[in-house]
Amino acid sequence: MCFLPLFKPQPRHPLVDGPVPSIQEPTISTPVFKSDFKFSGKSKTKLATVQKDLQDVANRAIELTVQDFGITEGIRTVERQRFLVQQGRSQTMNSRHITGHAIDVLAYNGSKHSWELPYYLLVANAFVWAAYEVGVPIRWGGSWSTLDIRACRVKDDPGETMMELYRRTRQRQGRKTFIDAVHFEIPR
Ligand SMILES: [Zn+2]
Repeated sequence: MCFLPLFKPQPRHPLVDGPVPSIQEPTISTPVFKSDFKFSGKSKTKLATVQKDLQDVANRAIELTVQDFGITEGIRTVERQRFLVQQGRSQTMNSRHITGHAIDVLAYNGSKHSWELPYYLLVANAFVWAAYEVGVPIRWGGSWSTLDIRACRVKDDPGETMMELYRRTRQRQGRKTFIDAVHFEIPR
C-alpha cells in the first residue's frame, strides 16, 4: 500500500509534461518523452525469456528512464534458484523468476555498471510510470510492502518514497528489511 496522497486533481508526469489520468482509466498515451537508452542484444535475450506483459513494461521503462539500465536475469531454473538461496542471494524457492514473471536489472553509468542504490531508485521511477501506462501491475524488490507500484504515482521520486515506506513498515513490525532493488515482478 502507498499511504502518501497522490497529486490530485492534476498530477504531473515527472517525465512527460502532461496530466496523468487516474489508475482506473489506463490509456495508451503517445510517447512525448523518449530517452536515448536502448537495450543491448544481451538484455533483449534475457527479457525475451519472461512473460509478454513484463516485457512490455520493461520496453516502455527504457524509453521513460533518465537512468540507463540493462536486464541481467529473466527466467530461472529451479536449480539456479536453489543455488542463489544457498548463497543467501535470494530468500525464497517460490521466486517469480522460475515462472518467467520477474526480471533483474543492472544500472549503467556510461559503459560501467553500478550497484549503488540511488541509480536503482531512478530505474524504479521509470517502472512506476511504465507499468501505469502499459496497464500491468508490478511489484518491486525495493519495496515488497507495495503490492503494485502503480499505487505510488507520486510526483517526485516514487522509488525513494516506496522504499522509505517499506523500511518504516518493517521497522514498525520489528522485522528485518530485504532490499532487492534490481528486481521487478508481476505480482501473484
Ligand atoms: Zn530478481
